[in-house]
Amino acid sequence: MSDAPQIDAELAVVGAGAAGLYVALCAAQEGASVALVSATTLAQTASYWAQGGLAAAIGPDDSAQLHELDTERAGRGLVRRSAAAVLCAEAPERVRDLERLGVNFDTDRGGALSLSLEGGHSLRRVVHSGGSATGRRLVRQLSALAAQEPLVEVLERARADTLLLADGRCVGLACDDGRSVRARAVVVCAGGAAALWARTTNPPGSLGSGMLLAHHAGARLADLEFLQFHPTAVIGVAGREGFLVTEAIRGEGARLLDADGERFVDELAPRDEVSAAIDRLLERTGARSVSLDMREVDPTLFPNVVDALAEAGIDVTTDLIPVAPAAHFMMGGITTDLHARSTLAGLYAVGESACTGLHGANRLASNSLSECFVFGGRAARAALEEPAVPREITPTAVELLGEVTQATRAALWEYAGLRRTRAGLQRLLEDPHPLARLIAACALAREESRGAHFREDHPRIDPRLDATHTIVAADGTVGFERWD
Ligand SMILES: Cc1cc2nc3c(=O)[nH]c(=O)nc-3n(C[C@H](O)[C@H](O)[C@H](O)COP(=O)(O)OP(=O)(O)OC[C@H]3O[C@@H](n4cnc5c(N)ncnc54)[C@H](O)[C@@H]3O)c2cc1C
Repeated sequence: MSDAPQIDAELAVVGAGAAGLYVALCAAQEGASVALVSATTLAQTASYWAQGGLAAAIGPDDSAQLHELDTERAGRGLVRRSAAAVLCAEAPERVRDLERLGVNFDTDRGGALSLSLEGGHSLRRVVHSGGSATGRRLVRQLSALAAQEPLVEVLERARADTLLLADGRCVGLACDDGRSVRARAVVVCAGGAAALWARTTNPPGSLGSGMLLAHHAGARLADLEFLQFHPTAVIGVAGREGFLVTEAIRGEGARLLDADGERFVDELAPRDEVSAAIDRLLERTGARSVSLDMREVDPTLFPNVVDALAEAGIDVTTDLIPVAPAAHFMMGGITTDLHARSTLAGLYAVGESACTGLHGANRLASNSLSECFVFGGRAARAALEEPAVPREITPTAVELLGEVTQATRAALWEYAGLRRTRAGLQRLLEDPHPLARLIAACALAREESRGAHFREDHPRIDPRLDATHTIVAADGTVGFERWD
């Protein structure tokens, strides 16, 4: 490692989605140098694919308390209240900050921010850009700023596969192209893990590599059994398999219909409820999909969804859209406090890689982009207070292990999908991929059904597990801990 090119920076950030870009820009605003490591091109981030927008209590009838209530209700007794309080109080200020950074959110005729309605929200609360092109607009603007920022060095197409440790702290990282970064702190913003499942809405890079890196370095993970399934991913349409049709379209009146053209679920219930209702219907009828009917919805509100479906031969003004649930969002991740600190000194995590406990057992729609910005700003400030790296160190390398095969992806879908059993999860414990095994261990330990985690052999919620999170220790053992 001594011969490899080495970069010295105040912060090393892994991942250039919404979380990573925002952490880097906030740190640069504080005058700090940042090395931003991105394994893929921008279009490969979940952030770029985000459609609906960011939840923030901005409307005249809204408040942080109402937003918090909806977050807690959706999270099914598992939301960490302190994390929800931070998110809901700070999200409006982060929206204003993004506007200052040049992000143009959609406005109504009077010039006020236009707010959309999504499942689980008691009122219109979701800020968006370009209709349903929010992620694309955000990532383009933030990455343009990062590229122009002299304090941010972007290491493109470099995959962090090693964390460097010295004296029990994380002091940098190394990439698969030989470059390494020494820094006061490493902030993992490497996204979620939903692409580990065979049927997913996520880009192929969402494989939980940040979680595995942190785990191998000795940080604790939490709540890996909680993987949200999005109810309306396109199925059976060539070229658009897994394409997500945003919930905001249901907020404008789109309906879910069975084979007889009848409604069977409240389309704006939280996602776990809608996905489970679809799954039960498909199981009962043997069908592959239900229909999303947006024929009555104004198509000009959602141009990118309408265009993407038109390219695949679906005219949303006359056709029904075949949809079914797909793996979408990892509620679990690297355990962090309210300043994004992991349990390993010098290692931070933000965005979908992190688990603050905010999402509980079922994320409220559009809380995740808000999370990237709220906890991203906090992470940048806290991480810059870490002590400087001593000049002379002998770091220990902790390497990322494990390629993902199609067999692993199929096994996760089969054994850790919408319905789980002890026998299936025990089979998953034998999977060659280490994260698949940890997910199985968490799902086996949680002997109840709550939010996105449904055990056929334990079909009810166990109130004794309210507010109780599943913790993966560094040695892989799984236990429980109450978080307030
Ligand atoms: C189709 C879709 C629509 C969505 N819509 C919404 C929405 O409307 N509102 C909302 O709030 N949420 C939405 N979500 C969820 C939300 O987009 C994500 O949770 C959020 O964007 C995650 O941001 P992130 O920065 O944590 O990760 P990402 O945006 O996934 O970025 C992670 C980055 O890390 C990189 N990376 C991974 N491993 C490594 C490594 N080892 N080394 C270097 N780089 C690495 C990846 O290449 C990527 O650049 C949606 C998700 C999808 C898939």
